[in-house]
Amino acid sequence: LAPSVIVLGMAGSGKTSFVQRLTAHLHAKKTPPYVVNLDPAVPYPVNIDIRDTVKYKQVMTEYGLGPNGAILTSLNLFCTRFDKVIELVRARSSTVPLTIIDTPGQIEAFTWSASGTIITEALASSHPTVVIYVCDSARATSPATFMSNMLYACSILYRTKLPFFVVFNKADIVRPTFAQRWMTDFERFDEALEDSRGGYSNDLARSLSLVLDEFYCGLKTVICSALTGEGMDEVLTAIDECKQQYRDQYIPLYAEMRA
Ligand code: GDP
Ligand code: MG
Repeated sequence: LAPSVIVLGMAGSGKTSFVQRLTAHLHAKKTPPYVVNLDPAVPYPVNIDIRDTVKYKQVMTEYGLGPNGAILTSLNLFCTRFDKVIELVRARSSTVPLTIIDTPGQIEAFTWSASGTIITEALASSHPTVVIYVCDSARATSPATFMSNMLYACSILYRTKLPFFVVFNKADIVRPTFAQRWMTDFERFDEALEDSRGGYSNDLARSLSLVLDEFYCGLKTVICSALTGEGMDEVLTAIDECKQQYRDQYIPLYAEMRA
């Protein structure tokens, strides 16, 4: 079965742009993917769109909700029909190379919601599922922002236990080599913290970076740009490796969790 790839990341990190670029890249190779949009607030052409099932604007007025509440409620409503989505994805998974799943702009709407968890587990228990965490390289030049991205990535990994890699996006703006250096050499991150003079939050970031050391060790990263298309083949290679990891590590783990 073709793997499903769940694309997560902070608002504005470039999830949707990344999904579109990867889709175009696969189209160019004559192996178009199956694309699912779970962001009720953003319209764009995909195969399965939450917007076809749930009317976001209507949810806002009907339930008297603001934008974030309406996104969460839309996701909850859609989640009740997700078995149908799984059916469609499975039906396609012998003819497409992969299914790509875009998530709502605000990361917490998916990662810290019941419906996000249900959707992730429904996918992962049906076929190989991979998580990609998209990080905005331009914003991550701030050590504090870099650290919050890594904490997010880390908590997602430990929660889902799924095969996982980090994409440093927007490499056309800033080369993310600094990030890879920070992950391999604590001293370099420490120096960057010194320069940024963040006070209390710097002390916290310093302590956390020691804790994250183990997380960094096993972490796969890919440098890419959704704008220029750089790194897309590396992304596909990383997805393949993760698919293997799903088979070797996740399935036995999942069986154990169920027992
Ligand atoms: P999302 O909220 O994570 O889905 O982010 P979007 O895909 O909507 O992108 C947010 C903004 O970043 C948009 O203005 C994009 O054009 C821009 N963007 C996304 N990826 C890249 C990239 O690789 N390079 C540059 N320069 N801009 C990007
Ligand atoms: Mg988006």
